[in-house]
Amino acid sequence: MKQIITLILILLVAGLSAQVVLDPRYHTYEEILQEINDLQTNYPDIVMVQQIGTTLGAVPYQDPIPIYAVKLSNNVTVDEDEPAVMYAGQVHAEEVLGIEITMYMINDIVENRLVDPYNVWLDNLEMWFVPTYNPEGLQVVMDGWDITYRKNKRDNNENGVFDYEVVPGGDIDGVDTNRNYGFNWIHGDEFGVGGPQEWNDYYRGPGPFSEGGTQAIRNLAEEQHFIYSINWHSSRTGDFSEKSRLSPISSRICSNA
Ligand SMILES: [Zn+2]
Repeated sequence: MKQIITLILILLVAGLSAQVVLDPRYHTYEEILQEINDLQTNYPDIVMVQQIGTTLGAVPYQDPIPIYAVKLSNNVTVDEDEPAVMYAGQVHAEEVLGIEITMYMINDIVENRLVDPYNVWLDNLEMWFVPTYNPEGLQVVMDGWDITYRKNKRDNNENGVFDYEVVPGGDIDGVDTNRNYGFNWIHGDEFGVGGPQEWNDYYRGPGPFSEGGTQAIRNLAEEQHFIYSINWHSSRTGDFSEKSRLSPISSRICSNA
């Protein structure tokens, strides 16, 4: 009996120590909000923070989380007749590098707002930044529950509990928000498996635009008619040497406009 208890204790400690937390230099959701709200307060002429939607909430264990965009432009509160562009930092939970890139860009442009080319951009463009549109997944990663987590937290099996595995993939809950756009949704999430599977890391969701994250991006795109947009991705495998990759999302959104 003693041996069994000892074994249980060892496994428990091993399990706890397996929880890995990311370096605190990476932004949590709260830190993103604090930083963009401070920028809006300090530079109200060129910085505007706007809520563009919410997650739908992984009912009943998660309240909806607001999704925010930051607009940078001269006369920022006016919707001027200028080309609009969008930069989205993070859709996949563990791909946190895009958040750092978008937050760096926002700060860099504001800091150097009087310097070429940023002064020209601010004069002639409406630049929209969405640091994260998967704040549910970001929480899973930043709180150290599972730093390999990819999806949002939709309660697929509706059991009221967030079901996930602390390894890449195999998470019963969650939708791959990036597979949830309407364009090509029909072709599904069969990457590596034989058909739509909720536990799959590429699960497309129960319907096109069923998720709060994709709805927020779609609604903003329909409102702003972006001429160009990019979404950063990075790799948990390290195959890309921690570099971020770009993927255009305009086409996926526009085809559903
Ligand atoms: Zn990705």
